[in-house]
Amino acid sequence: MLGSVAGFRSGTAVLNIHDFKKWLTFNEKLLQKRVASWIPSELSTEDRAVLLKELKDDCITAIQAAIQNVTGDTTKPGDDEDETNSEETPEVDEEKPSETPGSGQLLDRLLYRGVLPRYAFPTDVATFHVFDQGRSSRFRPIMRFAPSQGLPIALSQYAPGKQIWISGKCYSSGAIYSVMADERFHAWESKRLYCECSACGFARTFEIGEIARGDKQDCPACGTKDSFGEARYWLRPPGFAHPVDVEEVTLARRDP
Ligand SMILES: [Zn+2]
Repeated sequence: MLGSVAGFRSGTAVLNIHDFKKWLTFNEKLLQKRVASWIPSELSTEDRAVLLKELKDDCITAIQAAIQNVTGDTTKPGDDEDETNSEETPEVDEEKPSETPGSGQLLDRLLYRGVLPRYAFPTDVATFHVFDQGRSSRFRPIMRFAPSQGLPIALSQYAPGKQIWISGKCYSSGAIYSVMADERFHAWESKRLYCECSACGFARTFEIGEIARGDKQDCPACGTKDSFGEARYWLRPPGFAHPVDVEEVTLARRDP
C-alpha cells in the first residue's frame, strides 16, 4: 500500500521521498508538539530539545538510509555515484527477494531495516481460516473462525497437516489461503527453492533458476555427498485454511 522502494526513491510514485520531505517540513512544528507530548518526563531538558530539534532531519536520514540501493551499499563513497543511482539499476535490484526479503515494497523494506516497528504491523501475522459453509459463496467468503498468530508460531501451528482446536472442535489445516486472492498469487510468484541437508540439517533457499527443483548436491556445510536436497518449492504462506470438504471433528469425551 506504500508502493515500491524504487518509486518512492525516484519520485515517480504518488508516495515519494520528495513529497514526504515537504510534508515533514510543512508539519514540523505540529510533529514536534506531538512528540514532545509523549517524550518521557525523565528525559533531561537538553536531550528533549535535541530530539525535537533533530526530529525532521533524523527521520529523513533514517528513511534515506533504508531505501538506498542495496548493491549501492558496497560501493565506496563517490565511486560511480551516478551509476548506482541511475534509473535502471534500482528497478532490477528491487526485484531480487534475496537482497530485500519479501519484496521491493517500501513497507517491507522499512520493516526489514527496522525503521518501522515490526510488531505494530499485521504483515507478520498469518490467519487460519474456517469457512462458514452455510453463508459463504465462492465470491464472498464468510469465516466462522479466523484466529491468527505471528508468522513464526503460525508456521508450526497452522501448517498444512496440523490439527487446530477451536471452540471445542478439531479442524485440520489443508490449504494455503488468503482472503486477498492476489496474496496467494504473489506468494507463489516469489517462491524460492529450499534445500536441507539430511545429515547435518544445514538449510538454505535459492532463487528459481539458480538450481532446479529436485536437485541434490553435496552439502556445503558438512560435505556429505548428495545429502543437500532434494530442492523443493518454498514460499511464504499468506495464511491457511480448513478444507471446506473436510468434516470438523467433535470428540465425545472431553479430551484436552
Ligand atoms: Zn550437511
